[in-house]
Amino acid sequence: MTKLWMTRPLPEKVQAAAEVLFDVTVRPMTSPLTVEEMRTALSEYDAVIPTLGDLFSEEIFKAEDSWRCRILANFGVGYNHIDVAAAKAAGITVTNTPGAVTDATADTAMTLMLMSARRAGEGERMVRAGHWEGWHPTQLLGMHLGGKTVGIVGMGRIGQAIARRCHFGFGMQVAYHSRSPKDLDFPAQPKESLLALAASVDVLVIAVPGGDETHHLINAEVLEAMQSHAHLINIARGNVVEESALIQALEDGQIGGAGLDVYEFEPAVPDALKRMENVVLLPHIGTAALEVREDMGLMTVANLEAFFAGETPPNLV
Ligand code: NAP
Repeated sequence: MTKLWMTRPLPEKVQAAAEVLFDVTVRPMTSPLTVEEMRTALSEYDAVIPTLGDLFSEEIFKAEDSWRCRILANFGVGYNHIDVAAAKAAGITVTNTPGAVTDATADTAMTLMLMSARRAGEGERMVRAGHWEGWHPTQLLGMHLGGKTVGIVGMGRIGQAIARRCHFGFGMQVAYHSRSPKDLDFPAQPKESLLALAASVDVLVIAVPGGDETHHLINAEVLEAMQSHAHLINIARGNVVEESALIQALEDGQIGGAGLDVYEFEPAVPDALKRMENVVLLPHIGTAALEVREDMGLMTVANLEAFFAGETPPNLV
């Protein structure tokens, strides 16, 4: 029977579905794989389900001339932690789980937008600390999202789901910057450059994939272009935003606030960010709902099943 290594405990439903098809070993830990464990993954299993944080670099794939492992069925849509070209060169297929994550991640972006714009984190901290002395007309005045403009950086699946929520749910205008032209089923204004987008919006939301191409896409220049009341929201990958530049921009009052689900060196979160009241910090919970994690897991199993049946997996990357 095909040997599958599940590198993290996954929801019961997913483990049960995998066990019908494969000889499954579950790694009981939740931490990223060590270099040694990645070598074990490739040498002792036919298939592996890795996830965020497992840094399958070119060096790992090149350490041996041939590996037992034939497929890395990544749990998650983002696969910038896997050197896909090096995997291919080593004869290893890579798949991911697009679509299953879209709505939940867009909801997390809306959570961050609302919390940041309406100062919800600050208000909650005030209540918990026992510092709330009662309602008054000028307390904790934030930014009303209705009628404002959201700028989407990366108008893909998640970017579009965020834009739809903003347009249909909140009556916001939508502008965006993406790599390729988009045919959208809602009104949205394409901007010729990232800087032009940054300068013109009240909320800038990052929804591009991670990787070399987008590393530090949001740098000091982009943050400087933003309006001083505007909020930056990142649900993509931490290193798309140059964190030191973001801290500087917030400290200098160049932008109004930030809502972050991901961090450049996560799980490390800079103290400077934790100290600022106008920053909302979530622990990478973009897809953290049981049914979403089940859908993602069942998608990895479907990819594996197709691959070992000799078919092209539905979510080949
Ligand atoms: P997607 O459908 O591939 O969308 C990504 C979009 O970004 C595409 O439209 C792409 O343009 C655009 N893009 C790529 N590079 C760009 C650049 N340099 N400048 C401007 N636009 C660029 O991916 P998705 O499913 O929406 O997911 C996006 C990312 O969200 C994932 O890769 C993952 O890292 C992250 N994510 C985070 C969480 C979380 O828990 N916080 C959960 C799920 C996903 P083209 O259309 O031209 O390709």
